[in-house]
Amino acid sequence: MKLKVIMILFFLFILSGCSKEVKEVQIETIIDENAHYKVSINYPKTGYEKVDKEIYDYIDDSYQSFLKKQSTNKALDTLEELNIDYTYFENNDIISITLFKVQNNEQEMKTYNYMLKNIESFSIENITSQDMVLKKANTILFKRFGNTIDINLVEKNLETPLFSIDQENLYLYYPPKTFSNTYSDFIIIDIPLEELDITFEKIQKTSIEVYENQINTEKVNSIIDTNSKVIALTFDDGPSGYTEEIISILKENDAVATFFLLGNKVTTYQEVLKKSIEHGNELGNHTYNHKWLTKLSDGEIKKQIEDTQTIIKDTLGYTPKIFRPSYGSINKRVRNDIDLKVVLWNIDTMDWKYKSVDKIIDRAVRNASDESIILMHETYERTKDALPKIISILKEKGFTFVTISELEEVRNLRKLNG
Ligand code: ZN
Repeated sequence: MKLKVIMILFFLFILSGCSKEVKEVQIETIIDENAHYKVSINYPKTGYEKVDKEIYDYIDDSYQSFLKKQSTNKALDTLEELNIDYTYFENNDIISITLFKVQNNEQEMKTYNYMLKNIESFSIENITSQDMVLKKANTILFKRFGNTIDINLVEKNLETPLFSIDQENLYLYYPPKTFSNTYSDFIIIDIPLEELDITFEKIQKTSIEVYENQINTEKVNSIIDTNSKVIALTFDDGPSGYTEEIISILKENDAVATFFLLGNKVTTYQEVLKKSIEHGNELGNHTYNHKWLTKLSDGEIKKQIEDTQTIIKDTLGYTPKIFRPSYGSINKRVRNDIDLKVVLWNIDTMDWKYKSVDKIIDRAVRNASDESIILMHETYERTKDALPKIISILKEKGFTFVTISELEEVRNLRKLNG
């Protein structure tokens, strides 16, 4: 049940995320796990201070209270989980965001709807007839759920939904048990915008794209055809005993990848890293020893990054231009401490969690699309074993493999060419 709802939301995000005309948003990620708990949080950073603060406060609250609960619950021998995911939509008039939290088996949703002209939040009745919306919701509700819902509860609770909007629909969200004591998921009702008299100018699509630090385009790799689909394989936490095989597999298949390295492992594997550079792979900075950056002081953060830059420069004569935070742990403060371009991912193979090679292959290729960044770790044998198949499937789908910097070049060229 839990999974189903997450997948629905994920799909909504993909629908809005795929369209090139929708503004790209920066995604913040927190991954934190140990033997007792797993935390995985993704949330958008919009660039509108007020909106970002509200979202951040909720995320921080959720995370801190989860951690607090863990420290008081230490005796328990169960694995506790906190997951937060989001949907995001922005056009010329509004911004509409949902956060969906699953803590163990409990679900919670938050929605953020703002007019962009003044960054004030709006309600359904600000944009259309609430009565009409509720009438439609009522009809859809009974059509979909029939007699599994309680008519008295519907009368009582229908009027106060959480809601969000994208270019297609108005979505209404009702918490578990709103309409039935037995139904334990959020109910999502989508009403096509064309059935509603929405009073924005129109739900216009925008074509703003946001990139953090532009990488300069002087050195354009002419081999990459910007008309073909590109994809970036990335490997974290290395180098390791598998690196040599991984770079051989890449070379045999005419592919390149980007490796986010830990500074403390670099000297041990310097020969294989030199070879990796010669093969055209890119190296990035992944901190010195995989610390949880948001918990460090500014000085400690800078040291994590600079020590890694220095050791890579000194042993390999190579200067990384990109950085990926360990655990994806990053916030505004950490970002301010970093001069390198911060690179996250949009496809997570979760190879640290899944033991099956087939599962890793499937997760890598299933949602692969143009300009995707795939996250893997070079510390697992199963990931290395999955690699040849991942490459061959993606090749079959018409992808060209690029490094992160090449990906940026392609993006910039595409922007220049409209
Ligand atoms: Zn890592």
